[in-house]
Amino acid sequence: MSFDAIQKRLNDLQTKGKLTEKEVSYLLTPKRIHQKEFTLEKDDGSKETLKAYRVQFNDDLGPTKGGIRFHHEVDLDEVKSLAFWMALKTSLSNLPYGGGKGGVEVDPKGLSETELERISRGFIQVMAEHIGPTKDIPAPDVYTTPQIMAWMLDEYEKIKGEHLPGVITGKPLVLGGSKGRSYSTAQGGVYVLEAALKHAGKKLTEATIAIQGFGNAGMHAAHILHKLGAKIVAVSDSKGGAYDANGLDIEAVTAHKEKTRSVIGYAKDVTTEELLALDVDVLIPAALAETITAKNAANVKAKIVLELANGPVTPEADKLLYGKGINVIPDILANAGGVIVSYYEWVQNQMGYYWEEEEVLEKLKKQIIPPYNTMYELSSKEKFDLRTAAYLIATKRILEAAKLRGRV
Ligand code: GLU
Repeated sequence: MSFDAIQKRLNDLQTKGKLTEKEVSYLLTPKRIHQKEFTLEKDDGSKETLKAYRVQFNDDLGPTKGGIRFHHEVDLDEVKSLAFWMALKTSLSNLPYGGGKGGVEVDPKGLSETELERISRGFIQVMAEHIGPTKDIPAPDVYTTPQIMAWMLDEYEKIKGEHLPGVITGKPLVLGGSKGRSYSTAQGGVYVLEAALKHAGKKLTEATIAIQGFGNAGMHAAHILHKLGAKIVAVSDSKGGAYDANGLDIEAVTAHKEKTRSVIGYAKDVTTEELLALDVDVLIPAALAETITAKNAANVKAKIVLELANGPVTPEADKLLYGKGINVIPDILANAGGVIVSYYEWVQNQMGYYWEEEEVLEKLKKQIIPPYNTMYELSSKEKFDLRTAAYLIATKRILEAAKLRGRV
């Protein structure tokens, strides 16, 4: 989503939250922007110059934190938006972190393992001086995996000459990763969804769900929800979707996707647009930004939209959905499970002592439900949509820290 759209959202927030112009302008100013280039040597010997970004948006609450994505649509404007959301996300979840984000403009789909490794190491070579366990802590995001985190960690430790596992999170377990991190984005979203369904007087076992996106967030959400007894009627990936009104067998869909690289062909094929318009209780956009827009928001029939992706609903669509009485659980809370368990991973790295999975999950639930309740209460009291309430709580905490530091 463009940073312009975010600016508009904050102008709206200024009126509703009675923020001053100075405060809004402070919130919208990124602290540091690092823009670099590096050369990728491809397997066939040819060379390509790649653009790499790291935006450290706000660090009032602590070191900046946020993932790195590999995608052909990555540009500075997008990374800025994503970094801003990370600052709100960490604040809303009461983490001692600021927000940042990184990216490499590259199409990851055509790359070999060795090329991916060279890109991961190349990113760290140009960014190493700007990151660190008490400075800025990257993590996975779209098309970046635990293996990529491992290469990045290794490159960073080579440059620094010491072991510093807390420089990056989302690592494989054997390199200091946390139990539960691989599916924590989805798990956090499920905890929040359970709370929202409770408020709506609906049981998860009676809910029908459609999930757009079958990557780390969407696929794990499908598995967790399926195991809890919810009916997943449709899932999709970048090629299209699979639909079964009686509910999909998610294990079988995953096996089909592993074999054929897509969910299409498993059941009745549907397009993404058809999936978004299904008459379900819960719609989970779990892929990229700007999926629900002014063009298709009117077709959405779900009662709850759980934003597992970052920025899947545009500001115009937000208004249309709110007008239809649809509850949009905002990304900065719905997908915060990822960064929350990243925080636990970092804590475990800093103390060199590791927790059991049950402990991680119990902590995650205790961390994500209170901000959900605070957001829900504020939205009911002031008649704000959930996003406005979440943004107000998050920006208030950042501003409080900034004021104590004497920055605003
Ligand atoms: N990329 C994830 C996000 O957008 C996780 C960030 C992290 O773990 O630092 O929230």
